[in-house]
Amino acid sequence: MEIKLNEAVEKIALDNGQVTKVKLASQPQTLDTQLLFWSAPPFIALKAMNLPVVSNKPELRTALVFHYSVDKPLLDDRSHYLWIWDDSTAIFRVTLYPNLSPESKSHTISAEVLCAPEEAEQYSKEDIFNTLKRLELIALDANCLSSIKQVIHNTFPVPSSEFETGNAENYHTLSENVSNVIVSGRSGGKQWRQADVLVAAYNAIQAFVKAG
Ligand SMILES: Cc1cc2nc3c(=O)[nH]c(=O)nc-3n(C[C@H](O)[C@H](O)[C@H](O)COP(=O)(O)OP(=O)(O)OC[C@H]3O[C@@H](n4cnc5c(N)ncnc54)[C@H](O)[C@@H]3O)c2cc1C
Repeated sequence: MEIKLNEAVEKIALDNGQVTKVKLASQPQTLDTQLLFWSAPPFIALKAMNLPVVSNKPELRTALVFHYSVDKPLLDDRSHYLWIWDDSTAIFRVTLYPNLSPESKSHTISAEVLCAPEEAEQYSKEDIFNTLKRLELIALDANCLSSIKQVIHNTFPVPSSEFETGNAENYHTLSENVSNVIVSGRSGGKQWRQADVLVAAYNAIQAFVKAG
């Protein structure tokens, strides 16, 4: 098996509803294709196949992930993670690592915030640390030993009816017009969580192999 990195798919040739060849931008020759497993957004495949595409650009949130190591045990010693519905904070999820691995000697915790890209600077490591104290997850007299703020742009789409409908239509055009394609992943609109994406991919490959 050969894995080609840093490539872009330029053209996908169809013959009678089957993908027969894939042309990569960097190479003059095409790749013969028996099965196309497509895990990027479906509209990209539709464009490369010259099939109709619904233009569907959602607003994407920036994810901020704050990681801390603390000098005292966390105050919640049971939860693996918590959804935060308290509207006085922008934190929506907290992960409490010692509860995932009780043998661990370190007191580590992450907090996640979703925001507009231009708001990313507004959230400081100090403010989020203090919020975790206010939420009674970290002791008031605890100190931060180390911390990291990760800024990841273009993550969660802001859900809208148009986005859902456009996604479903693109997924439908691709899967209905092409028989040897597996459309995988969150961009297909069928699954979002990692485990669901992997189970669906496994089942789709098994079904393709069985169908022979
Ligand atoms: C911030 C964040 C936190 C999450 N947390 C969790 C979690 O805790 N648990 C969980 O189960 N799931 C979580 N998810 C959901 C996550 O989407 C899935 O776990 C999983 O990554 C989905 O896999 P995927 O293959 O569908 O998508 P991805 O892993 O996003 O793969 C899609 C691929 O398509 C590529 N691509 C996109 N556009 C183009 C383009 N124009 N050209 C070429 N390539 C392109 C991308 O580079 C990417 O590699 C989270 C998602 C986000 C954004």
